[in-house]
Amino acid sequence: MIKKEIEQEAKIPLSNELTAKKSDFSNWYTQVVHVAGILDQRFEAKGENVWKGYGYKAMNNIKAIWDKLFQDAGIEEYYFPLIVPLEYAKQNDSWWKGFETEGYQVIAGEDKKVQGILRPTGEPAMYPMFSLWVRSSSDLPIRLYETVSSYRYETKHTRPLIRDREITVWHEIHTAHATRSEAEEEMELHMRLWDQMWNDLALPVFKVKKPIWECFPGAVGAVEYYSTTPNGRVMENGSVNNLGQAYAKKFNIKFTDKDGQEKYVWQLCTGNGARLLAAVFTIHGDDHGLIMPPKIAPFKAVIIPILKKGEEDIVNKKALELYEKLKTKFPIKLDSSEKSPGKKFYEWEIKGVPIRIEIGPKDIAEKSLMLVRRDTFEKIKVKEAEVDKKIESLLQDIHKNLLDKATKMLNSQLAKASSLEEIKKNINNQKISIAFWCNDEKCYDKISKVEDGVEGFGSDLNESESGKCIVCNKQTKTRLYVAKSY
Ligand SMILES: [Zn+2]
Repeated sequence: MIKKEIEQEAKIPLSNELTAKKSDFSNWYTQVVHVAGILDQRFEAKGENVWKGYGYKAMNNIKAIWDKLFQDAGIEEYYFPLIVPLEYAKQNDSWWKGFETEGYQVIAGEDKKVQGILRPTGEPAMYPMFSLWVRSSSDLPIRLYETVSSYRYETKHTRPLIRDREITVWHEIHTAHATRSEAEEEMELHMRLWDQMWNDLALPVFKVKKPIWECFPGAVGAVEYYSTTPNGRVMENGSVNNLGQAYAKKFNIKFTDKDGQEKYVWQLCTGNGARLLAAVFTIHGDDHGLIMPPKIAPFKAVIIPILKKGEEDIVNKKALELYEKLKTKFPIKLDSSEKSPGKKFYEWEIKGVPIRIEIGPKDIAEKSLMLVRRDTFEKIKVKEAEVDKKIESLLQDIHKNLLDKATKMLNSQLAKASSLEEIKKNINNQKISIAFWCNDEKCYDKISKVEDGVEGFGSDLNESESGKCIVCNKQTKTRLYVAKSY
């Protein structure tokens, strides 16, 4: 797509005024990632964007959280080459069928020979190595991850951080175990790790169990995470896949067990990446721009000097002094540019910095500061000596408020349905429908394909309630989620 089209589509150059989020979510999203300095989408290749400093910092703060979570759980960070030899890629025929046209082939050399494929997923890069590393049960388990870019020739409409051709900062975890029960325990652990990740982003977790016919061929099961958009759509946002022995058999990953028998390993793969940041923007943002959850905010606060003629030096000096003091405790920004305070307020609101610190001559005289919360715009006057403690407690409050608000929003988007007609009605009202379902594939098809563009995307992990399948009336504890995907 050429530059002009992107600019027109996103209405970027027309003004820096954002579209209202609720009434025109798609445009709001495209504009805000650009205007807030997350990405520049004008790179002239579809589905490839330039990360800008502020956005990349937020993304790297997310990476720092997963590095700690997964490494504390004993999972090591590795790096595998981006270019995968074709013979590796073809080792799993069903994988190859799925990615033959979606994969970018790499051509080099005088004879312009295909040297390999740019990795669309990690399996063909990793599993041939796993088969070399595993010989006996003492070589197990393998538990590793890498953070890397993935490449898919996406033919659908691309959306920054949501559907790209170059999928950047992709975090992918792969494990191999001697027994099925070990793999299942590992799956429970990974779900807890992801739950923690979502909590750190102040987002409620929304996860579903996939029906087996929608899992990878040969897999034992999968749990998928979803986030929602303000217009009642859902976005797949990470998954934990219990691969069983499907890949082990294709890639010949086997070991001699203590009983002398040769056995295939049991495997797990899970992953997510920049879509986590997309969920943060989508759910926490408002008509003023982004709201960064404190744990990933590139700056926890921004200091803005309010200058008065004749007293510029006093204010600037005090602002610098405050910055030097606070920067030892939090990542903080002092905006000492020539712009007017109003313009600065506006720009830092779009970027979603959690707290604004205003400092003017009156504040200096009173030895106080004015703090303004980005999430509520509440103004809080605080004694200068207590500012660091106040920031700390405000950041905790902001995290809690964002999580509460997001949980309320999610709950308000879920709507029970006891007939196919009711599912349609809910979806037309921008809701996500939940309906009892008997676990039968035929009933699944009727419910999930109730209307064009609608899909079933898995069942609730919580099976405490019981009711009748809305198609065949059979008693069941399974509830299926049905919605339009974004
Ligand atoms: Zn049924």
